[in-house]
Amino acid sequence: MKVALFSSLTAAAAVAAHGPLHARQSASSVGSAAPVGSAAPSAPAGPAPSSFSFTLAATNPTAIPLASIVSNAPSQATHALGTTFAPGSTPTAVTGAPPLPNAALLAPSSYPPLDVIVSPDSPEVKQWILDVNNSGISIPDIAPTVAGGCPANPVAAADADKSRCWWTCGGCVQPTDVTTCPDKLTWGLTYDDGPSLYTPDLLQFLDQKQLKSTFFVVGSRVISFPAILQAEYMAGHQIAVHTWSHPSLTTLTNEQIIAELGWSKKVIKDVIGVTPSHFRPPFGDIDNRVRAIAKAMGLTPVMWTRISALATFDTDDFDLHSGLSTASKVLQNWDFIEGNATTFPSGFILLEHDLFQQSVDIATGYILPDALAHQPAFKIEPVIACLNKPMNDAYIELNDNSTNPPAQSASGSAALTSGAPGSAQSTGKPNSALPAALPGLGSVLAFAMVLLGAATL
Ligand SMILES: [Zn+2]
Repeated sequence: MKVALFSSLTAAAAVAAHGPLHARQSASSVGSAAPVGSAAPSAPAGPAPSSFSFTLAATNPTAIPLASIVSNAPSQATHALGTTFAPGSTPTAVTGAPPLPNAALLAPSSYPPLDVIVSPDSPEVKQWILDVNNSGISIPDIAPTVAGGCPANPVAAADADKSRCWWTCGGCVQPTDVTTCPDKLTWGLTYDDGPSLYTPDLLQFLDQKQLKSTFFVVGSRVISFPAILQAEYMAGHQIAVHTWSHPSLTTLTNEQIIAELGWSKKVIKDVIGVTPSHFRPPFGDIDNRVRAIAKAMGLTPVMWTRISALATFDTDDFDLHSGLSTASKVLQNWDFIEGNATTFPSGFILLEHDLFQQSVDIATGYILPDALAHQPAFKIEPVIACLNKPMNDAYIELNDNSTNPPAQSASGSAALTSGAPGSAQSTGKPNSALPAALPGLGSVLAFAMVLLGAATL
């Protein structure tokens, strides 16, 4: 049954969801402009519009009502993992993997402080720096950017589509960046910033629907919720790196980038026994310097699909928690994305999150049920699978480099996509408002506060 849902105010012009390319308000302009393009009414720049329209082919009968998916929603009861795995369990989604480590033995004191940019002064990082220096990969001499994105970095922004290939200012990508899935109507499903208290709800829904995802996890969250990471891995989801403290990587020194990637690789291996081969830069903030360091550390970047500045495949679900976006707005974004995905010549990758309950509620209640009912059908799978590679290739120790080598060159010719990406950097909003220190475990809320300084990630 086709149902149409509208926000409480007068609905905007009905959206023909599956026509030609639909523009959507990019995350970089949230709150500053109305949706534009043929599919939505035009409006002058100003406050965010208060009504949005969208059409859903299906919703979850047990979905949280849209009116309750708001920034000040009371915390829902969290749910325990359906299954936990004993130390020594054997993973079945990959072959040749070591037994599952004992998560109870994880000692947080052996890792850097949570949610703080990692110091490069530890013996571990010094070794990783040596490894990068001995990798044979040349790191371009590109100066770090300063916090504040494109407006704060005019020189770098002017070079963003040239030797720097800085995604944040103009969406420059390299052939080695994963930005789409090759096969039409195939969706490389991803969730970022977890694990969190709400991840088990998402895992339960994915399990019910027999869906697998890629999870880009933050090292500081892995320390807090190692059993959830194990559940993701053992259920056959792809685990990938999303740094230790979620900084904008282009603002860091080479050594800090190595520390952020290295510690997140290490904690993931300590918890699941293998090391991811893919990563997503927080805020999509990547340039050729970050690419080269990541390559030297065995990590292939995964972005999200952008057709243009106004057609980024970012639902903006992250901003539900802060109130910078609304459930109706996110579903309108999804409607535009779904329409574009239907006509896009290749498959696609979305940006979504599992850090906050609102993001999980909108995914399990609306976006995923609608996607599953979509005609023509989407093929929904982890990024590694959408690339037509075996799950073993998602992990450095299990990847058969002889037949499935990692991405080759981080210094090829730049491929520029038009417009600005959906990035906090491009808004000039601060992204370095990191607290001096955050106490101990369970600092999800503190981490959230850190991230509230940014529009999206
Ligand atoms: Zn993120």
